[in-house]
Amino acid sequence: ATVAGALSIEALTAGYGGTSVLHDVSFALHPGEIVALLGANGAGKTTLLRTLAGLMPARSGSIRLDDVDLTDVATEQRARRGLALVPEGQSVVAELTVEENLRLGSLWRHKGASRDRAINGVYELFEPLARRRNSAGHQLSGGERQMLALGRALITEPVVLVLDEPSLGLAPLTIAKIFGALRDIAADRGLTVLLAEQNVTSALSIADRGIVLDLGKVVADAPSQDLLRDSTLRHAYLGF
Ligand code: ATP
Repeated sequence: ATVAGALSIEALTAGYGGTSVLHDVSFALHPGEIVALLGANGAGKTTLLRTLAGLMPARSGSIRLDDVDLTDVATEQRARRGLALVPEGQSVVAELTVEENLRLGSLWRHKGASRDRAINGVYELFEPLARRRNSAGHQLSGGERQMLALGRALITEPVVLVLDEPSLGLAPLTIAKIFGALRDIAADRGLTVLLAEQNVTSALSIADRGIVLDLGKVVADAPSQDLLRDSTLRHAYLGF
């Protein structure tokens, strides 16, 4: 089957122990679309991304990628089908070099010469990583670490890329560079992107559309321009 990258989430419920965090979450991502997932601290963004990646179970509802139901599929199989998660923060292995992190991340997708080509592809996308290829993860700047986390996801050749707060802890100029690169790469490859962010303006500057979560429910789903214009919604949920 050809993979187009349509992700559809229906009436998804998930939580921890006795607590439900996501309540009946439904939305769809169209192939090639960049969508920002917005909402205050604790709204449930990370929980939603973890459930999408299969790191925690859906209690009810469904997750589909194109024609395939992924709801009960193991994390690794979701990755093989083209769903890649770039987790928040320190997902880079601190003790390994940039190159080793990329090799590790590409093991299941590429072998031999194909792996070298894929790694060189990441160095072409993110030139600072090429210069730092022999530096350990812990020696990298925040921006370089985020590039490496993104490169490690891209090397698996995803069709849907899901990112958890890539701007966290980065300087504004670095955020602009990384988001610009993300937008260009997504356009080049026709990637579908779900971008969870507290940095609303940066996220909406590259997103076609935004989905706002509040207390685990979808409270808005609209084109970026409409969200930015809606002052009631902005004050209530987006904090500006
Ligand atoms: P943040 O930006 O802080 O990551 P978020 O929107 O990603 O916020 P989640 O991390 O998904 O929100 O948290 C949603 C709710 O789930 C919060 O009330 C949080 O306290 C709770 N929660 C998160 N992780 C756990 C856990 N491991 N066990 C129990 N409750 C949790």
